[in-house]
Amino acid sequence: MVNNKTCPGCGVMLPNKNLEFSDQYNASGECIQLYHELSANFIMSPDVTFRTQHAVDAYGAQHSGNRVKNIRTAFSLIGLYLAVEREYTGRQVQHAHMELAKRNIKWSSFILPIRPYALSVADVLNIVEVKRNEMLMEWSKNVWDTWENYHEWTRNICKSYLKHF
Ligand SMILES: [Zn+2]
Repeated sequence: MVNNKTCPGCGVMLPNKNLEFSDQYNASGECIQLYHELSANFIMSPDVTFRTQHAVDAYGAQHSGNRVKNIRTAFSLIGLYLAVEREYTGRQVQHAHMELAKRNIKWSSFILPIRPYALSVADVLNIVEVKRNEMLMEWSKNVWDTWENYHEWTRNICKSYLKHF
């Protein structure tokens, strides 16, 4: 019988390898290992749009809570909003993050969504290469949709703090 472990952030069930919980994310060690694998995969086939940013944001929002810093959750939600609703590339999201970082905004804590996520990093990693970008965006969209209670908040932050928005 396979001994599975559930990730506290995204809810994915993975074979238990007795890995430590992540200290940066609200994630099981098994889940964070897949995230590192996906990131390495993107580094090996770089692209001008910097798609890895969408993985950073989807993973970041999905693994919020616990000891995760509020700024990480805030930046993840902003990145997902810009990518999913405004069709920003990863590179454009990165520039928006840099602009926001200069503003020294005090981020308050977030209430995590109750609704479970439909997709995880495992879905993006396990799909054939040609469909990976599509799945990456589906994952981003699913995470963004799940955080529906913060959609207005995120839109307002972008309206208030981003120039040329
Ligand atoms: Zn996870």
